[in-house]
Amino acid sequence: MRFNDLGLRAEILQSVAAEGYDIPTPIQAQAIPVVLSGRDLMAAAQTGTGKTAGFTLPILQLLAGRDTGLSLKKFRPRALILTPTRELAAQVHDSVRVYGRHLPLKSAVIYGGVGMGPQTRLLKQGVDIVVATPGRLLDHVSERNADLSGIEILVLDEADRMLDMGFIRDIRKILSLLPKRKQSLLFSATFSDEIRALAQGLLTDPASVEVARRNSAAEAVTQTVYPVDRVRKKDLLVKLIQDHGWHQVLVFTRTKHGADALARHLEKSGITAAALHGNKTQGARQRALDDFKRLKINVLVATDIAARGIDIDQLPQVVNFELPNVPEDYVHRIGRTGRAGSDGAAVSLVCVDEAKLLRDIERVLKRSIEKCVVPGYEPDPSIRPEPIQKPRQPRSGVSHGKHGDTNKGRDRQGNGKPDRRGNTTHGDRGAHHSGVRGR
Ligand code: AMP
Repeated sequence: MRFNDLGLRAEILQSVAAEGYDIPTPIQAQAIPVVLSGRDLMAAAQTGTGKTAGFTLPILQLLAGRDTGLSLKKFRPRALILTPTRELAAQVHDSVRVYGRHLPLKSAVIYGGVGMGPQTRLLKQGVDIVVATPGRLLDHVSERNADLSGIEILVLDEADRMLDMGFIRDIRKILSLLPKRKQSLLFSATFSDEIRALAQGLLTDPASVEVARRNSAAEAVTQTVYPVDRVRKKDLLVKLIQDHGWHQVLVFTRTKHGADALARHLEKSGITAAALHGNKTQGARQRALDDFKRLKINVLVATDIAARGIDIDQLPQVVNFELPNVPEDYVHRIGRTGRAGSDGAAVSLVCVDEAKLLRDIERVLKRSIEKCVVPGYEPDPSIRPEPIQKPRQPRSGVSHGKHGDTNKGRDRQGNGKPDRRGNTTHGDRGAHHSGVRGR
C-alpha cells in the first residue's frame, strides 16, 4: 500500500511526499482508514511506529473537509490532542504543521513552563487544532481562554504515560468539558487495566489496531551489556564513545543530578554533551534537543521522562548508563533507536547491583543480551551486590506538575553526594542502591 491509496487529499499527500515518505507504516495503514471513517480508535503503538502521522493525517483530512467558519467565529478548537510531556506536544505540533502546511487550518501548542500570553493570544484568535499537555490546558480553560465545547476529535497520545505521570484527574476534568458526541482516539504503548477502564468510559464501539507486540521494538535493536563497576561507568562511557566514534548518543540516567554530573564529566573529557531533564527551563530543554538533533552536541544525557517521546530520526545509539527499575522502561528507552526501519544499537553499562534488574529485563525480552567485558574495565569480583531498593511506582495522584512538567514525582532529590561505590543519595524513584538513606 502507498500513501496515495489511502484517499488523502492532494495537499496532504504533497506534504507527506516532501517528507520523503512513500509507504505508510503498519500503524498508519491501519489507523488512517479507521479515523477517516469517523470511528473511535484504540491503538496499541509505541513511539517510533509512525503513530503521530497515523492520527495527524486523517485529522487534517477530516477537518479540512468540514466547514470551519462556525467554530472559528466562536474561537473554538475542533481537534484536541493531549500528550504527557512538553517535548511530545512540541513534536506532535511540528507534525501537524508539517503535514498541514498546504491546508488553511490553524493550530496551537499549549504547554507549561513558558508564558501564558502568546498561547492565550493564539487561542483567542481561534485555532482548529490544539496540541496540549493537560495541566496548562486546564489553566487556559479556567482563564476562559479556551472553550473546548466545539471539539469534534480528541486524541489521547501515549495514554499509558499520562496515567503513569498522574494526569488521570486532569484528563477526566478535560473529558468532562468536551461534547459527548465526538470521535475519540486513544494511543498507548501498553494496555493496563487502568487504560482499559479509561477507554471503556471514553470510546464508543472502537476499532482496535495493534501494530507491534509489546517489547517488539527491542527486536530491531542490537543490544549489548557491558559489565562494569559503578565507579568506572563514566570512564568506560567516555572510552566507548571515543573508540566507536559515536556522534549522536542518547544516554539515560536515573536522576537529574546524575544527568547533570555525567554531562559535566563528558564535557571535561572533551565530548560535547548536554543534560535534559525536568529541572531545566523549557528554553534550555528545547535548545539541548535542537543542538543534539543538529549534531552540535554529540551526547544528550536524559532522565526517562524527559526523554519520553523524543523524536529523532534514525538515532544510532542509546546508552543505559543505569538500568531502569521497570523492564518496560528499558524497552521504551531502546525504542529511541532503530526507528521506522533503521538500524540502531543499545548499550547498557551494568554494575553488580543491577544484576537482578538485568535478569528481569531479559525475562521480559525472552532472551539474554550479549555481554561484553572491556579489557581494563573488568568488574572487581570482591564487590558484593547491595540490596536493590524497591522502586516507588508513580501512579495516579502523584504530583505531576500542573503545567505538564515531566519529572515531578519521579526525581526526588537527596544530597547528591557520592559514596564509596559511586552511589549518590538523590532518592529518585529509580534509586536501587543503598545510598538512598536521605529519604
Ligand atoms: P512516531 O512514531 O510518530 O514518533 O514516528 C517515528 C518516526 O518515523 C518519525 O521520525 C517519523 O518522521 C517517521 N515516519 C513516520 N511515518 C513514516 C513513514 N511512512 N515512512 C518512514 N518514516 C516515517
